[in-house]
Amino acid sequence: MISVRDGQNHILSRITATVAPELVPVTRALGRVLAEDFQAPFDVPPADNSAVDGYAVASADIPAAGTSELVVVADLAAGSIFDGRLTAGQALRIMTGAPMPAGADTVYPQEIVERDDRRVRIGPLAKGANVRLRGEDVEAGAIVIETGTVLRPQEIGLVTSLGAWQLMVYRRPRVALMSTGDEVAEPGTPRRPGQIYDANRFTLRGSIEQCGGEVIDLGIVPDERETLRARLHEAAAGADVVLTSGGVSVGVYDLVKEVLAEVGAIDFWQVAMQPGRPLAVGSIGGAAFFGLPGNPVASLLSFMLFVRPVVYKLAGRRTLFPDAWQARALERMPKKVGRTEYKRGILRFADGAWDVRTTGPQGSGILSSMVAGNCLIVLDEARGDVAAGELVTVEPF
Ligand code: AMP
Ligand code: MG
Repeated sequence: MISVRDGQNHILSRITATVAPELVPVTRALGRVLAEDFQAPFDVPPADNSAVDGYAVASADIPAAGTSELVVVADLAAGSIFDGRLTAGQALRIMTGAPMPAGADTVYPQEIVERDDRRVRIGPLAKGANVRLRGEDVEAGAIVIETGTVLRPQEIGLVTSLGAWQLMVYRRPRVALMSTGDEVAEPGTPRRPGQIYDANRFTLRGSIEQCGGEVIDLGIVPDERETLRARLHEAAAGADVVLTSGGVSVGVYDLVKEVLAEVGAIDFWQVAMQPGRPLAVGSIGGAAFFGLPGNPVASLLSFMLFVRPVVYKLAGRRTLFPDAWQARALERMPKKVGRTEYKRGILRFADGAWDVRTTGPQGSGILSSMVAGNCLIVLDEARGDVAAGELVTVEPF
């Protein structure tokens, strides 16, 4: 038996390189991982400019008390610049965002002055008021987004404000995927007696896409040695990661184990967890290999724990594991000491605190428990039963 944590560390230690970077237009960069630090090519704002609609003046002309009158030399719109210089006794009508004219350092909001034809009457005001300084948002040369950051809309807006129209991101890791088992039927085709429709290939496909991978779908492979071997070779040729589901337990038809032992370097683990004990881990050619269990909940959970961090690491992400929170258990939860248990929970905020209950029956084949739930309740190896009212760790999904 291997613990979940040791298993994760072992798997991640084998991933020593990321996938290659590629250049994409900013319109295709959402959700991608930045592959180089993004440095500001210039100051933002690029020049001192007005924060309000009003009048730019030199602080030397500001009265200490009472009022004084200045001559308005020009009206300047946003986007245009005043190429002269203000001299003593002059003011410039200026719009929000317009660059400050030479000779001025302070702006009066239009609401606090009196304008009369070519003149404006002003009172006392602090030097430098209502001026946004060059570089106050971002200084030229500063790293504004670090490599390994997943790009959200605001990161993309920031780089476009800095003039970028394409970005260097990691290409999506390619994950080849197949279901195994004579009993597994393709949805949309007739099902023979004794067959079940494929669930795993579709939960796994969605999971791969959700974590930024590209799916190579190799369909359903029957429990036949030769077909499986050929399909695995095909998978390894074009993929960074190869995934199978089913066939890793100890049944007569659990061929994945045997075939893998021939074609790649594989360990078969019994992971101290529930659900999802059996796991095959290794490599085929240059690809990382994971043989996930067949039971749908076990298969999805094993993906979350062991495959997702690998896809993240290959994709160059800085953060490999989800945030964990704490919530108050609303019910008693049986728990065996010596294994990590993952119950599907319903997490909710009620009466000023987070609480959680299980979704009901927790069998490893009950996929509807993942549908009813919105989090994993993570009960660590050392602990026993949870009493109602105790705090437990939860990971929202
Ligand atoms: P196995 O490890 O191949 O013996 O599979 C364990 C259980 O998971 C069996 O009940 C299988 O029928 C079921 N199972 C295997 N593959 C799938 C799949 N792709 N979708 C849904 N259930 C599956
Ligand atoms: Mg099987």
